[in-house]
Amino acid sequence: MADASTVLHTYVIALGSNQSLTGALGPVALVDRALDALDSPPLSLLARSKIIQSAPVGPSKRRYANAVAIVETNLPPPALLAHLQNIEDRYGRRRRRRWGARTLDLDIILWSGGLWTGSNLAIPHVAFRDRDFVLHPLARIAPDWRDPVGGLTVHQLAVRLSRRKPVDHRPNPL
Ligand code: ATP
Ligand code: CA
Ligand code: CA
Repeated sequence: MADASTVLHTYVIALGSNQSLTGALGPVALVDRALDALDSPPLSLLARSKIIQSAPVGPSKRRYANAVAIVETNLPPPALLAHLQNIEDRYGRRRRRRWGARTLDLDIILWSGGLWTGSNLAIPHVAFRDRDFVLHPLARIAPDWRDPVGGLTVHQLAVRLSRRKPVDHRPNPL
């Protein structure tokens, strides 16, 4: 039987930032640095989207930067989550409330192994089907990847979302 450490997994990761770390390291630069970190052992980057930006809404000064990436690694899901949290911490992430401003957010969206359900990890990510800033860039790099729940492709999910009113009314959640 193959040793667990030799099994290669493929994942979709969503990246987001809406807070600068320093004057020189704003959301776009942070997402760019994080993409480099996703191409460093034990991860290798197979594909990445462009970084999409949205202007601040209303009185908020927060600009958002988002991207998605496909990575390959021998890390199983819980070890990957720990690794991603480590990268978040390295880029100044402070764990306060959910959906608050953050320098870097790295979510696991999809996994080549299909479903994972644990106390602090669910794959697919529970909200990805309602998030245009995940589905839209992902449809460009992995349109045929199937949601293991329901069986629709990423392309089909993106089309479905664009045809209905957004259900996620929080201001551009990451
Ligand atoms: P959302 O998950 O709605 O995008 P968020 O990214 O702001 O919100 P966080 O505060 O970053 O939420 O994470 C809260 C917890 O979500 C983490 O501690 C982690 O254990 C858990 N979690 C569950 N499933 C996943 C997943 N697929 N990817 C990343 N974290 C996950
Ligand atoms: Ca997160
Ligand atoms: Ca998130």
